[in-house]
Amino acid sequence: MRKTGVAVVLTGLALALSVPLPSAAQGRAAPELDVFDIFYRNVKEYGVQLVDWQGYLANPSIELTVRAPKVAGVAYPLKVDLKAEGTSRLMFNLPSELTATGATKSFTLTGPADREIVRLAIHSKQGPGRDERHKWTMKTTDAKGATVKQTLPIRVQQDEKRKLEPSVPIDFDYRYDTITGYFADPGTRKAAETAVRNWFAFFDLEPFDTVPAGDEVSHLPGDDWQNEVKTSNAKPYDGFYVFFRGIQTPYSTGYPADNGKKHTRNGEATPYHRSFSTILEYDEALMKLFTSLSDDDWYRSDLGEVIDVHGLVMHEFGHAVAYHDWWEGMAKYKESKGRDDQEVIDYQGYPIPIDGSGHIPGDQPYWDRISGQSGGWHHVFPTRRWELTKLALLVAENAGWKLNRSLTPFLAPSIETAALRNATAGTAYSEQLRAKGGVPFYDWQVAGGALPEGLTLDRFTGRISGTTTAAAGSYPVTVQLRDYDKLGTPLTKQFTITVG
Ligand SMILES: [Zn+2]
Repeated sequence: MRKTGVAVVLTGLALALSVPLPSAAQGRAAPELDVFDIFYRNVKEYGVQLVDWQGYLANPSIELTVRAPKVAGVAYPLKVDLKAEGTSRLMFNLPSELTATGATKSFTLTGPADREIVRLAIHSKQGPGRDERHKWTMKTTDAKGATVKQTLPIRVQQDEKRKLEPSVPIDFDYRYDTITGYFADPGTRKAAETAVRNWFAFFDLEPFDTVPAGDEVSHLPGDDWQNEVKTSNAKPYDGFYVFFRGIQTPYSTGYPADNGKKHTRNGEATPYHRSFSTILEYDEALMKLFTSLSDDDWYRSDLGEVIDVHGLVMHEFGHAVAYHDWWEGMAKYKESKGRDDQEVIDYQGYPIPIDGSGHIPGDQPYWDRISGQSGGWHHVFPTRRWELTKLALLVAENAGWKLNRSLTPFLAPSIETAALRNATAGTAYSEQLRAKGGVPFYDWQVAGGALPEGLTLDRFTGRISGTTTAAAGSYPVTVQLRDYDKLGTPLTKQFTITVG
């Protein structure tokens, strides 16, 4: 009887093997992939963390490595379809797509040694917001059509909890928008003014002396730079004064007033020009104006087909506010090819020159290292709205500006926790280590000494927890913090946990 039973089972198995039904592949899952971060942590369980820094600029991207599994019998190649799901603001490095519900990216792993390096980031959100939670889904399909789907959380730390505003008033003047009237549209005005305000929100500024009406003389071009008009401020102003004008040709630009006058503060000279002009040019027949300021819509802007007013003004006003030879400090920076700005060199890893037309060059070595973006045509991610970057701001300081160093894009990483609470043997213990600054997908580790027996430090969260069995006494431990910046320096801090 038993023999017969075995024979029946074997027959059934043989049949199943010899008749490969379409459902056979579906019943067998493809192998799961591993995802490692730059610290060789496997993020399969915890997931990953992004940050949306204070201010409207390109956020840091994080690099991850997707690896083929270290198991035998895998049917290569493996096709991998990634989606960063939850908001249109998520993006992957190219090649990839942006969609209304998140970014997608596909690649193939050809063998056990293969891997794919993926960069993930989130587009900035205008104004304040809450921390966000999205998900990374990864569908793997093997050569036989078997699939497996893995998901892991994407946490987004939103640093801008209260709206960041420029600390001095800005006046806008549209009286000379008489050629095309682009700025008659309230949406265009709002997008343009928001871009200007986004720039000034990064500056550390004190009030200036009042500029009397008519005192600030400037000029605005007509089409083809003909029929220039002479301008001056219509009313007194205390902060900055910005002229906007639309023209039909040949290009958009921006510049500071070149009248020899500089702002004063309590009668003392400052390096700042008193006013700025921004020219908007586009071909109305070929392109549409994109004026949405909803960051859920930003991915629909397209430099080839529409003129995204915010992105264009961010770029052109950049020439007015810093990237122009009429700023003595910037002219000097350009002359020295950036070799005297140690802060920029430390950030990017090498000097950043300025080209003949007042731009940070558009090729890859000059893309902002941490975000992978640039305010130009190409960068690591799909180019949509031109974004201000940390690199562009650090270089802009050469015009004479002072950045607000208390904003999160400029904070160096630091461990904030001052001391750790005492532990009691046999009683559950939990303490949260806290840090700020840098790129906050932190890695926490014990770098010296040891935690009392039974306590462990979570590398991702910085939480020390467990129930100790250690004898009464003092346990010195050195904690190391690394932020998610490959050029970052690990920090250490010494703590003592007393068991008693
Ligand atoms: Zn430009």
